[in-house]
Amino acid sequence: MRLILLGPPGAGKGTQAQRLVHKHNLIQLSTGEMLRAAVAAQTPIGLQAKDIMASGSLVPDEIVIGIISDRLDQPDMKNGFILDGFPRTVPQAAALDDLLKKKHIKLDAVIELRVNESALLDRVESRVAEMRARGEEVRIDDTPEVLSKRLASYRTLTEPLIHYYSERRKLLTVDGMMTIEHVTREINRILSAIGAVEPKASKAAAPAKQAKAGARKTTKPAGKKAVKTAGKAAKSAPKATKAVSKGAKKAKKATKKIANKTGRKTAKKAVKKPAKKAVKKVTKKRAKR
Ligand code: AMP
Repeated sequence: MRLILLGPPGAGKGTQAQRLVHKHNLIQLSTGEMLRAAVAAQTPIGLQAKDIMASGSLVPDEIVIGIISDRLDQPDMKNGFILDGFPRTVPQAAALDDLLKKKHIKLDAVIELRVNESALLDRVESRVAEMRARGEEVRIDDTPEVLSKRLASYRTLTEPLIHYYSERRKLLTVDGMMTIEHVTREINRILSAIGAVEPKASKAAAPAKQAKAGARKTTKPAGKKAVKTAGKAAKSAPKATKAVSKGAKKAKKATKKIANKTGRKTAKKAVKKPAKKAVKKVTKKRAKR
């Protein structure tokens, strides 16, 4: 599975990425983490990125594209990956499209974590307090001033990616204001609905397989419905959870429909065959008579 996690700083991309990593045995590619490692190791890239990162601006596209391109060539990428914090600009997204095309890699989905901006500052503040309590080093760019700059650059440079991936029918929007658990569940549910992951093991294995095959064919409608509903939900915060679970029900229905259709077809075939055989038998008997 190959995913992109999209969302402003503090939306929970890192947390959800780690959960997906554990559940689906994927590799998390966080450009922020890679750059921080480069800064710590004082590599040429690190030295170039250090001040830019501290100010809350974005590192030049060529640098991050180069880092990602090299990383995608590593053998551990085979089982799939989650891009966290990349792409962050339209040119980065276009470069990623080219890279993936050249490397014959298919992107499954882009998951947007939609959050209420006013909650982000609180979230980042509590993250900083928790890190301090654990005695961990706090990120230099996790201050209210730098955060507002990071949010501004998200709005102007990264938010256009929502349209970019929505046009390419890759976007799945999840209400990131729910609890961590709920967001995780919703992401996994949506990924199952589009056939990116095996749906939960059911008692009847065969119908489950059929449902998955059908879901793959109709990735667009199922995904699109979920995106639309979840998108609306994020706009009207109080209704959010309800709307998202409505989206969940709709997507479930879609998968059921697909399963039923596939099941029906197979059932029809099963009925047809014996019926044909029976007709043949009768004709033979008649001929004998
Ligand atoms: P993050 O950990 O994703 O919040 O990233 C921390 C900082 O690293 C950002 O504020 C940027 O300065 C830089 N950075 C991370 N990813 C990118 C990217 N894809 N493009 C440009 N700069 C990035």
